[in-house]
Amino acid sequence: MAPAAYAGAAAPVPAPDKESRARPDRPQRAMTGGGREVFAGQPGAPGVALGRAHHPVRPPDPDAAELPGPLIVMATEVTADDLLMAPGDVAGAASAVGGATGHAATVARALGVPMVFGLPAEALDVPEGAEVLLDGATGRLTVAPGMLDRAEARDAIQRARLRRGVLAEARTLPTVTVDGHPVDLLANVGSAADAGAAVVTAAEGVGLVRTELPFLSAARWPSVAEHLANLVPVLRPLAGLPVTVRTLDFADDKLPPFLATGLAGRLGRGLPLMLAAPAAFSDQFEAILRAADETDIRLSLMIPMVADVSELRACRKVLDAAAATVGVPVPPLGAMIELPEAVEGVEEIAAEADFLSLGTNDLTAALLGVDRRDPALTPRRTGDPVVLGAIAHVCAAGRAADIPVTVCGDAAADPWVAPLLIGAGCTALSVTPAVLDEVRALIRGLDFADALHRADRVLDA
Ligand code: PEP
Ligand code: MG
Repeated sequence: MAPAAYAGAAAPVPAPDKESRARPDRPQRAMTGGGREVFAGQPGAPGVALGRAHHPVRPPDPDAAELPGPLIVMATEVTADDLLMAPGDVAGAASAVGGATGHAATVARALGVPMVFGLPAEALDVPEGAEVLLDGATGRLTVAPGMLDRAEARDAIQRARLRRGVLAEARTLPTVTVDGHPVDLLANVGSAADAGAAVVTAAEGVGLVRTELPFLSAARWPSVAEHLANLVPVLRPLAGLPVTVRTLDFADDKLPPFLATGLAGRLGRGLPLMLAAPAAFSDQFEAILRAADETDIRLSLMIPMVADVSELRACRKVLDAAAATVGVPVPPLGAMIELPEAVEGVEEIAAEADFLSLGTNDLTAALLGVDRRDPALTPRRTGDPVVLGAIAHVCAAGRAADIPVTVCGDAAADPWVAPLLIGAGCTALSVTPAVLDEVRALIRGLDFADALHRADRVLDA
């Protein structure tokens, strides 16, 4: 089947080699009269947005007066906080720095907010309140759009709304391919609103709860009580569902101030950071177990940035001790595979883990040697033969150990890559609730035999 384009973007999905790129040899700006200017950037989060330019203040002011929206948040580097704390209704976001697999883009997709990266400085220099139009699928930003632009944008927004209505009607249907191959469809969640959206869109469960998001401005390690205060409202709407909670994954573009200095390399990321702070780590395990018990979810725990089996064993010890303290059974423990060294040792990790989950955002960046915040790093790059080969290797290890292999990186929602992931042997896709209905439609329209064939063709390349 031809892959579907998302969020009302009527254009067919381009093959990766034809993707729009903000190359230095390509003009990034066109002036067309009446003050109208068109700038070329990189796709970040799909959809069309029309609104008024808003330049966020730093640090964000939670008490700022509401601005008349819809707002297009514009900055040299739009952060997740800029989106979450904007003083009004955010319709879109435009940034020079960052890329489609970065943290801000992940949050934008979760909010259903179109986003564009890689824009030149003058594109972002428009006056506060100026009218702008952006297209997150093509990466184009239009300042002072003309009448025709505005009419087309309203049309695209209306088409997207209608499509969402049609897709919503298929929520009760099972996520199986045309030829009967089942794929678990799960949600990625970072807030109570996401959790509510996961339930509304009929996710079969949650494949990733990001627990670091409430603590990006923290001044110290969170206490058990602080973890509970943030986690319980996220888990409460998910009662009865299988939910995979990931331990803190503080990373380059999501590092709180108290960790932002003096750390470099792997110690500055996810797991090594936590293993170097055992009391903070154990507090989080205890809080997750207590929160799961209180909210009646079916808990699994997941560790980010696992490099080798010894790290996972160290985590299991912390988990066993925390479960004994709380007085609950030890839940399944999974490892995220998002480092090249984890792919190399995946057979050993799979023997120790209860499930594996592919963090394709980090894995793709690492295998292709591209910074995660580089606008050229899109989820589609996960379809590169080198990356897909690594993924197929992980899936084979999962099959041999008889454990599930989920994809929770943004590639799981890419209409061109998702069939390759299914063809490579991934058993579940976990995506932001904003695109869950689209991914369900994609799976239900897919022929598994064709997906196998497509994945083989890429792997042979
Ligand atoms: C990933 O790396 O693909 C992932 C899901 O983790 P995060 O985006 O939170 O780093
Ligand atoms: Mg990651």
